[in-house]
Amino acid sequence: GKIRIYNLAKELDKDSKELLDILDDLGIEVSSHMSTITDETAELVKAMYKEDDETAVEEITETETETAEEIKETENAEESDTEEVEVLDAVEIETPITVKEFAEKIDKQANNIIVELMNLGVMANVNQNLDEETLELLADELGIKIKLMSEEEEIKSMRIGPEIEDKAEDLEARPPIVTVMGHVDHGKTTLLDVIRKSRVAVAGSEAGGITQHIGAYQAEIDDKKITFIDTPGHEAFTAMRARGAQLTDIAILVVAADDGIMPQTEEAINHAKAAGIPIIVAINKIDKVNAQPERVKQELTEYGLVPEDWGGNTICVNVSALQETNIDELLEMIILVSEMEELKANPKRLAEGVVIEAELDKGRGPVATVLVKNGTLQVGETLLAGLTCGRVRAMFDEFGENIEKAGPSTAVEVLGLNDVPNAGDFVQVLEDEKKAKNVAAERQAEKRQQEIKQDAKVSLEDLYKQIQEGEVKELNIIIKADVQGSIEALRASLLRLGTDEVTVNVIHTGVGGVNETDVNLASASNAIIIGFNVRPDNNALKVAEKEQVDIRTYRVIYKALEDIKDAMAGLLDPEL
Ligand code: GDP
Repeated sequence: GKIRIYNLAKELDKDSKELLDILDDLGIEVSSHMSTITDETAELVKAMYKEDDETAVEEITETETETAEEIKETENAEESDTEEVEVLDAVEIETPITVKEFAEKIDKQANNIIVELMNLGVMANVNQNLDEETLELLADELGIKIKLMSEEEEIKSMRIGPEIEDKAEDLEARPPIVTVMGHVDHGKTTLLDVIRKSRVAVAGSEAGGITQHIGAYQAEIDDKKITFIDTPGHEAFTAMRARGAQLTDIAILVVAADDGIMPQTEEAINHAKAAGIPIIVAINKIDKVNAQPERVKQELTEYGLVPEDWGGNTICVNVSALQETNIDELLEMIILVSEMEELKANPKRLAEGVVIEAELDKGRGPVATVLVKNGTLQVGETLLAGLTCGRVRAMFDEFGENIEKAGPSTAVEVLGLNDVPNAGDFVQVLEDEKKAKNVAAERQAEKRQQEIKQDAKVSLEDLYKQIQEGEVKELNIIIKADVQGSIEALRASLLRLGTDEVTVNVIHTGVGGVNETDVNLASASNAIIIGFNVRPDNNALKVAEKEQVDIRTYRVIYKALEDIKDAMAGLLDPEL
């Protein structure tokens, strides 16, 4: 086996430089501390230290004062080292990184790093990139933990930079973010409306209390706030979760007392459970004569939601959204649960959140409603939102009021993004505007690349799938044949294969072999190529492979039609 000199030095608790000297004395040539030596050599070095230790005792008594001081010094150094480990728990390092950037990242002088590198046998200047192995060794030497992340990985990851843990003393209670879920027609919209009408007016009385739909609103009860996501249903909720954004703290499950648990109720339960968030059940429509709240409770137990009055811990509130019965009780329960959850955030940090709605406004440009999860968002800051970024030009709350700051659990309309982000996109304030622009550009490039890849994959086989996914409503075909007559015959028969769901377009025909131009056209217009009694030339084949264009060659018209028909059969909407 082999061992790295650096590691051996660690093991022996010695300076690597010392080991290099010893090896030199032994006549073993090594270039740096990162070089490896054989196990035998390592044993030899270890043996030498054993002898040394025995004599060292005498030395200590000789130079007692000096050594004692040295020991003190190293102890102090170790102490500060361990302190650093705690504070800088796994510093995230984006590679490539230069010596200078690394030094800044870990709050050290660049020359200190260069000295450390020299100890490791690496000669480097400040602008030199450090490879991953060296970074690991360096971190080890400095007693810090690092997490390496390549630029590529970072662009794909949701958050740029590390997730910073907030200090306990910076944390403050924040309002819960609540999503209303349940089966269609069970009263989700009515409930959200009645809360908005009766409870938001209080909070926004100075502003006249008229709210606008921006995707979320804050209600108030007993001076405590609750943030409601204004779009009911678990679809949006799940779509956001799929993007990695856990937005909701508490789910309100609306179940109509006259209808009981229905398929979408069950789905909502599963989604809330998957997200690991508490569920409060609003048993709605209790004003109805055929309301059976107790039956609903019975049904809930079958899904593991045992009501409190049945000895379980699921809070159920009988309400009537229509008659505004028990709405305050429901809100109080939300506050109760949120207090139990101890929801906290740090208003002092740079904001992080999620886009809950976004659109292109004719006058104002891209407008995104951002729900701030942590930190405080401020006008003038640089925001990275999914594939886009921009400087926050202005912000508006749900009353349409111009605001400068938005703290945790508040939703604000943000103006100033360069493009319209997607609902569910993670949003983050970055201090470095250039970085934000860079990441957004890289993400866009990445997306385009993927789109191109998808576009190119047109073939009769997966056309069916594409149609089903609603991506393709027409089948574009290019015909190349040996004689004009065949082209006409083929074209007429192919066009006749068109159906209500899928139109067949012959976008180009020509006499002669399939060439590169045909393939490029097919690639650009999502077409397949049919060669009748002709073949593709080598260039065409090469490009077709690269662009993944489907070229089919036939000698019998009947066979060509049959193939297309098969694909078309697959294309047919199964419902019809
Ligand atoms: P959603 O599909 O879950 O958003 O349900 P809606 O809020 O649109 O309500 C569906 C229907 O139920 C509407 O006609 C409402 O007026 C009615 N509704 C909602 N809540 C109540 C209620 O508490 N009592 C009664 N009687 N009807 C209600």
